[in-house]
Amino acid sequence: NASSKPPPEPSPLRRAKYFKANMRILVTGGAGFIGSHLVDKLMENEENMVIVADNYFTGSKDNLRQWFDHPRFELIRHDITKPLLVEVDKIYHLACPASPIFYKYNAVKTIKTNVIGTLNMLDLLSEILLTSTSEVYGDPLVHPQTEDYWGNVNPIGVRSCYDEGKRVAETLMFDYHRQHGIGNCSPSFIAYVSARSILNTSNWYNSIKVPNCMKWFNRNTDRKIFNTYGPRMNIDDGRVVSNFLAQAIRDEPLSVQLPGTQTRSFCYVADMVDGLIRLMEGDNTGPINIGNPGEFTMLELAETVKEMINPAIEIIKVENTPDDPRQRKPDITKAKELLGWEPIIKLQDGIPLMEEDFRKRIGIPRK
Ligand code: NAD
Ligand code: UDP
Repeated sequence: NASSKPPPEPSPLRRAKYFKANMRILVTGGAGFIGSHLVDKLMENEENMVIVADNYFTGSKDNLRQWFDHPRFELIRHDITKPLLVEVDKIYHLACPASPIFYKYNAVKTIKTNVIGTLNMLDLLSEILLTSTSEVYGDPLVHPQTEDYWGNVNPIGVRSCYDEGKRVAETLMFDYHRQHGIGNCSPSFIAYVSARSILNTSNWYNSIKVPNCMKWFNRNTDRKIFNTYGPRMNIDDGRVVSNFLAQAIRDEPLSVQLPGTQTRSFCYVADMVDGLIRLMEGDNTGPINIGNPGEFTMLELAETVKEMINPAIEIIKVENTPDDPRQRKPDITKAKELLGWEPIIKLQDGIPLMEEDFRKRIGIPRK
């Protein structure tokens, strides 16, 4: 009898109407480590409709599984080196492999992702935040690194696809930002103007009034991310925190790459996501360093992991890869002053949270 049947479930489209969602946010690389944590945080706000575009090169659908059926969430399998036509209000542009093993694996693809991919995202003419990297400082001659330091980068080295790629992405961000004030709404016009002509005619551009139609996308932000760690990192992605944790859990020696005195500063992923959202929600144009200024040598990091996870394991020294920066530590004065942001999770508190996740995925519980 038809009248006793339960009413049909509303379609996702209809259900969406019950939500207040009026802010459409695109997250490129949202299936990756930082991107998926960012999506979790953005989804907490009922105003947000979150669209992820990812080609799953280093990311995984598993990182987003909890949102699959949610009416305010969409996942698109898409390679950002190809144009994407979506109407969005904001873009968090993260897509790019971050682990040296993966970004060197197909260096040409990495540079295309950074250059063509960033152009494609800029052409959506939305408010956009680029996650740049502390690698744009190269092997820095200034320590700690402030945002106005231009860097010391090898343009033809094995890391160049990533660090020079991000440097071009930053240049594109700022050229679009400057040129969007020139009074032409056509993105293709902007894309075809060469950098040299901007310099030659800058006074002419400055004298042109910015029309109202340009103002809504006339801001973009660029953020330099320092080494980030936390749950959902790829277990075998080759970066130092994930390597040491996996090795300690598997009773394998910790592989410190020579000389071991090189330094890095590690930021817990929840702090990172908080910083990204604050920058997007504020009125500042970057670049702004986001990272934890606590600086460790790789030997100190190995000792910390050994002490906290597996005091019985050995620490060994192994060969390093070319162009490894000797020191890295963010100056976060700008983030503190402009965003009221600073990291709150110490390495000693973040490592156990990551260990719990790694033990579950590796399948070795704590003894
Ligand atoms: P990740 O490798 O876990 O995530 C990157 C994501 O981008 C993945 O899901 C991958 O599949 C996707 N992707 C790569 N190429 C793509 C393409 N052409 N089209 C569509 N999707 C593509 O890396 P992460 O650690 O989450 O880093 C995210 C961002 O933060 C990157 O831009 C990275 O450069 C930057 N960053 C990260 C760190 C860090 O320590 N994790 C440090 C500095 C900067
Ligand atoms: N490193 C290490 N052992 C490893 C992996 C990396 O000692 O198993 C060192 C590496 O030489 C570098 C530092 O850790 O000095 C950070 O490397 P990672 O690849 O994590 O990040 P990035 O070089 O991009 O900062």
